[in-house]
Amino acid sequence: MSEATNIPYVETELYRIRHSAAHVMAEAVLEFFPEAKLAIGPPIEDGFYYDFDLGRDENGKLITFAPEDLERIEAKMKQLLKQNAKFEQSSKTVAEAQTFFAGQPYKLELIEELAAGKVDENGNPLSEPVQDVGIYQHRNFVDLCRGPHVAFHQTGQAQCCQALAYQWCLLAR
Ligand SMILES: [Zn+2]
Repeated sequence: MSEATNIPYVETELYRIRHSAAHVMAEAVLEFFPEAKLAIGPPIEDGFYYDFDLGRDENGKLITFAPEDLERIEAKMKQLLKQNAKFEQSSKTVAEAQTFFAGQPYKLELIEELAAGKVDENGNPLSEPVQDVGIYQHRNFVDLCRGPHVAFHQTGQAQCCQALAYQWCLLAR
């Protein structure tokens, strides 16, 4: 990485690669945990993450990823990245998005905040309410997003193995 450039991080290719990789991580997680609830997954200073809520077990304990889950998620990401896919951009009205993401409570919260002009898909402050929300889809995985992404095959440049999956409920809110 060059320190000499003054390009803001969010405009760098590295940011887009990490951002794109978060989509693929979420896709991989849903393969093993189809009931997972997705929160947000922005790039961060030294990588990227995606918040997942895996629910609770029969004893009411929060389900978390085991080390072997992270291994199989990473393996799945690598496998998915070998299949070339395309990030397709579209948009939905707030009402359409609420219907589409009805099973995803954290996405519904984000849609509400977008519609109220509070924060964007990555949790950053917004200047005004949105009328339409950005949608990106690759294969069957659809997410709230404004992009931008890299070409799908480039996403593999992200260090998937360093991806951390946090438990939404453990984050201070
Ligand atoms: Zn995206």
